[in-house]
Amino acid sequence: MYPLPQDLHIHTTFSRSDSAVVPEQTVELVAAIGHAQVIGISDHLESIVEDFPTYAAAVRSYGLKVGTEVSGADWAREAEAVEAQYYLYHCRDREEDYRGAEQLLATGKPVIIAHPLILETDLRRVPPECLIEINNRYVWRSNWELLRPFIASFSFVINSDAHQPHWLNQNVARHVARELGIAETLLFPDEAGLRRPQPVEPGKKL
Ligand SMILES: [Zn+2]
Ligand SMILES: [Zn+2]
Repeated sequence: MYPLPQDLHIHTTFSRSDSAVVPEQTVELVAAIGHAQVIGISDHLESIVEDFPTYAAAVRSYGLKVGTEVSGADWAREAEAVEAQYYLYHCRDREEDYRGAEQLLATGKPVIIAHPLILETDLRRVPPECLIEINNRYVWRSNWELLRPFIASFSFVINSDAHQPHWLNQNVARHVARELGIAETLLFPDEAGLRRPQPVEPGKKL
């Protein structure tokens, strides 16, 4: 089995307030499964802000990237202050949330707009430096054709948004990316390019 090149939207038991996370979904188990070459954990900032260094140390100890999921502008100030390597950002269709995206971009760290179709983000108002997520948990619940007008103006990231071990895959999200003709952007390309699976030509006999 070939691992996926990257998966940067994964929750673990650090997301205490998220009832979809099962107790077995530990950082240790996610690391052991190793479904992607570059794995980033992105627990909800509300759950980890009190002791971010403990969270970050736990994630780093398994060689994983340290992200966090930020619930809009209300949490932008706290998000700026923590030592995350990248942000997943909830951008609802509110003036302040678009401003919050600008605020996070000013840190110089990557800002991924999380599941924009579900949050009804108006992508015309999102700064073009943001990355847009295609998310395996949610993308099939919306009309993903709404993303097509934006494929030339943004870079895209494919994620699982896994809360449970068997969600650690991107099968639907990758189908959508193929349909839209999107090549995903790798945030840590030096690490992800090493063992990339080679695409098999359609119809080729193995
Ligand atoms: Zn989310
Ligand atoms: Zn999430």
